[in-house]
Amino acid sequence: MELTNIETILNDALIHSSKYIDDGNVATYIPELAKADKNLLGASIVTIEGKRYHVGDWHQEFTIQSISKTISLIFALHNLGPEIVFNKVGMEPSGDPFNSIIKLETKKYPSNPYINAGAIAVAGLISERYSFEDYLKLVRLFCGRNSIEVDENVYMSESKTGMLNRSLAYMMNSSGVLEADVEKTLDFYFKMCSVKVNSNDLANYAAILANDGLDLKSGDRLIDNSILKIVKSLMLTCGMYDGSGEFAIRVGMPAKSGVGGGILAFAENKLGICVFGPALDSQGNSIGGYHMLEYLSKELGLHYFSGK
Ligand code: GLN
Repeated sequence: MELTNIETILNDALIHSSKYIDDGNVATYIPELAKADKNLLGASIVTIEGKRYHVGDWHQEFTIQSISKTISLIFALHNLGPEIVFNKVGMEPSGDPFNSIIKLETKKYPSNPYINAGAIAVAGLISERYSFEDYLKLVRLFCGRNSIEVDENVYMSESKTGMLNRSLAYMMNSSGVLEADVEKTLDFYFKMCSVKVNSNDLANYAAILANDGLDLKSGDRLIDNSILKIVKSLMLTCGMYDGSGEFAIRVGMPAKSGVGGGILAFAENKLGICVFGPALDSQGNSIGGYHMLEYLSKELGLHYFSGK
């Protein structure tokens, strides 16, 4: 892929997408996130050869939010194995909003690990046996930055106001899905959502996913093949919440979004991308980021069913 090409297209993508920002709004249900500047927009691309391209507010830090659910899933699959994990959570798109409680009454088990209920169930499995520091080490490894930390203000804000997440956790506790200590589980979940990153960090992680789980510099295997298959397939089918189907058609890349405004996506054997813009659409996906990904997919030929 030609260097000048990517740079020009990335710049054009930013200009094209910034006009959609006005149609979105920052997340307000977590009070600390309501303080974000809705006009920010940026992106980073990291190729599997390790070349980096940035545009706009790529250096701005934001909280990883639901994108963390892919890393906690990798951590759980690696340390506990798929049997234990998928004994607690399904593999199907829910079709409901990310924080929905409705199916827990009829189906008992959360539909997949990328909705809040599913991620809380996985957080329960992890927090029973491992410390948050153990998990954070993996985030730092994938992002290639050792200084990554939790945003204490967002963490406190989520912890204080996360009553719906608390409801999901207690509901699962009463039905036997969540056997771990509920408040300890939620503490782990709120912390993992509040890890502060920039788009370069997440594009680095996305590039590792694109690079068959191999470290970009050393070529060391960081993620097993069997785990990659699960994590990536779920990104395809469930990564954009109840907007995953339309996203698959319009963008055609495995992706995961978060209400902090980040969306991580990758094109297999090519590159990793992270777009960032705190103005969200009605499904909680970055509105400018979504348009940037659609533009990049088209112009760089990244859609899995119509690659250039
Ligand atoms: N921390 C957020 C929550 O639990 C994560 C949701 C998201 O990014 N969609 O509600």
